[in-house]
Amino acid sequence: MVREDGFACTLEPIALTDLLKKIPRLLVADESGNILEVPELLMLGKSLHSLHLPSPDELIRLPHGSNLYMLPGRTAVGYDFREDRVVEVGEYRGKKVQAVAAFMAPAHTWVYRAAYRREPGAPILPLYAYAAVGWLDGDYWVAGVRVDPDIRQDPAQFNLEEVERRAEEALRRYPRNRLVRHLVENCVRRYGCPAARNFVLGRWECPVPTSPGCNAACVGCLSLQAEDGPPAAQERINFVPTSEEIVEFTVRHLESSPEAIISFGQGCEGEPLLLADLLEESIREIRRRTPSGTINLNTNAFDPRAVERLCRAGLDSMRVSLNSAQEEYYLRYFQPKNYGFEDVLESIRVAKDYGIWVSVNYFVFPGFTDHPSEMDSFVRLIREFHVDMVQARNLNLDPDLAIERLGLETLDDSESIGILNWLRRLRQEAPWLRIGYFNPPVRMRNVGATVR
Ligand code: SF4
Repeated sequence: MVREDGFACTLEPIALTDLLKKIPRLLVADESGNILEVPELLMLGKSLHSLHLPSPDELIRLPHGSNLYMLPGRTAVGYDFREDRVVEVGEYRGKKVQAVAAFMAPAHTWVYRAAYRREPGAPILPLYAYAAVGWLDGDYWVAGVRVDPDIRQDPAQFNLEEVERRAEEALRRYPRNRLVRHLVENCVRRYGCPAARNFVLGRWECPVPTSPGCNAACVGCLSLQAEDGPPAAQERINFVPTSEEIVEFTVRHLESSPEAIISFGQGCEGEPLLLADLLEESIREIRRRTPSGTINLNTNAFDPRAVERLCRAGLDSMRVSLNSAQEEYYLRYFQPKNYGFEDVLESIRVAKDYGIWVSVNYFVFPGFTDHPSEMDSFVRLIREFHVDMVQARNLNLDPDLAIERLGLETLDDSESIGILNWLRRLRQEAPWLRIGYFNPPVRMRNVGATVR
């Protein structure tokens, strides 16, 4: 039941003493960016519209490598457990303060977004997922869950001096390769991309961006945004590499790296499937030279025929991006130019027919993802196509902009079951399904055999 003040207390009755011991306190930030604890108030989390006191199992210590953001033009909202009421905090200790949120490190899925009231004229927030965060026992706690044990993007895995030394080495090894230069100068040195760092370190998943263009206009596109949209998170690659440039470094990566994967379709590019000829030629040449490792495609999957050609050429896995399993919400988010939702589904069918590992890169949005209408549609899709994996990513978009652009203003989230229950339901409904965050190696080195 959601109260007047938007508070939906879903917590089992818990003794006040326990509540105070287990629920973090509200955080605010002053104009200098100093983060302050408000010990009188408990943190709240927000699903689509309603406010929640996170239960202890919905909270984790803030993972290493996460960022904390103060949210301009957003007033923090907390819970006064003495008065049993929701309280807005626009000023604290005589200072003007703003709401605070956490952008969790990779491998983590948010359970609630930060609770705040957006003030009129507030700027659109950049492309991050703003999770609810609070303070307890001397530490930051966030409403989230680790969904993938894989350590490939854990900050502790990167010795930055070693990364730079190996980056220099890569440039020396491939002096005329524009794509390697893009990965080193743009991705490693400018953006600190963990996937590009793993390429120069010769391990795990290596990114292979190829496409400056795209045939969709996602509301949350990381590499291209409209004037009135949030700032793009990274610049798009501005050239199309040759097949020789692609093959030159990817064969070595597949043959020499542990759990080797090469992935077409990165945040710093448009849609790789628009370059199906180049990808087909490259995959054929890579597989002519080596049976090792996994060749993966991250894609909007707009063209089933092109997918078929890549499957025949030697593709091992495909990851399809979806914000929703309901066509209306898919179209509002992806705004496809020359394809439809049925093309995406047909691409999944084709890939499964060829025995390709199919993952869904699913943009989780608390209150919507776990709403019965979306959940039932998503479970139906997973079961109909026997999807192999769901990568439970976070919708990296200003939540108010997402609600507006997806038309979710009137969706009643009192029926939403919560993200942890959503994960449990997925496991119940699809016991074979792998749930995680990263593309898995589905083809091990030098055995040629497919390992699931
Ligand atoms: S499909 Fe990818 S590149 Fe294209 S608009 Fe969407 S996020 Fe951007």
